[in-house]
Amino acid sequence: MSDIKESQVLRIAVQKSGRLSEDSFRLFKECGIKFESGTGKLKTLSSNFPAEFLFLRDDDIPGYVEDGVADIGIVGENVYTESNRKVEISHRLGFSKCRLSIAIPRNIEYKGIQDLQGKSFATSYPRILGNFLKEMGIKGEIHEISGSVEIAPSIGLADAVCDIVSSGSTLLSNGLKEVEVIYRSEAVLISHKKLSKAKNKVLEKLLFRIEAVQKAQNHKYILLNAPNEKLNDIISLIPGMKSPTVVPLAQEGWSSVHSVLEENDFWENIEAIRAAGAQGILVVPIEKMIY
Ligand code: ATP
Ligand code: ZN
Repeated sequence: MSDIKESQVLRIAVQKSGRLSEDSFRLFKECGIKFESGTGKLKTLSSNFPAEFLFLRDDDIPGYVEDGVADIGIVGENVYTESNRKVEISHRLGFSKCRLSIAIPRNIEYKGIQDLQGKSFATSYPRILGNFLKEMGIKGEIHEISGSVEIAPSIGLADAVCDIVSSGSTLLSNGLKEVEVIYRSEAVLISHKKLSKAKNKVLEKLLFRIEAVQKAQNHKYILLNAPNEKLNDIISLIPGMKSPTVVPLAQEGWSSVHSVLEENDFWENIEAIRAAGAQGILVVPIEKMIY
């Protein structure tokens, strides 16, 4: 990349180590972008794409992207919203899904949101929680704390907590129960508001690759054998990209059908296709998908 000017290199902020890191690194790898990670370095240049990676704490990423220290970054939507920084969401990435919930001690009865009236809350998300309570017409006191939010009720710091939940086991082990989901989050790609033309071009190139990877993840390639007299029935059950490919088999009276299926309709379609007489069904993952 030595022939590329620095002004054309997209600086990408990613979480150094945490729940976003592995999936972020994997995404760039699937996009064919090579870089060294996990070497303890704070930044590194890609060897085959005009990008420089900055390894940071996730909370710092929106600010760096707003200031233009980084051009783009990957963060949880929760961190993006809480930061209130002026950056764009360029793409939703679909990983690191989690929710932000209010939880209260398990032994306290909960009939509805009005039970939260006048309570105190410990959270690392004062902005998101504050907006939610306001919207719901609940008056409460918010204590901002940066970690181990779940222990707040048991040490008498707050009546309730508002924190990230994925499985709920942390809540359970702290004697809490989830009573309101207030925000749903996934990883998002954020970008600086005013990128130069050159950097925007690199970003477009990156987004094109990300979309191809995401589309492929939602689809499967299917191959099957069908008796010729059942071909039409079977083909009508396969909502392919265009029309499926049909190739005659060496065995007379049989054909091989190839197509692409959406992951969502997968099981339902497979059962119908089998019932219609298809045999030897193979389903294989797709690496990239470009229309
Ligand atoms: P850092 O050291 O970089 O500040 P952190 O401890 O604040 O990291 P992580 O726990 O690594 O943050 O979480 C990063 C993001 O991953 C969260 O902001 C959230 O969007 C998402 N996340 C958090 N917990 C989960 C979970 N259990 N499952 C899926 N995604 C999660
Ligand atoms: Zn953090």
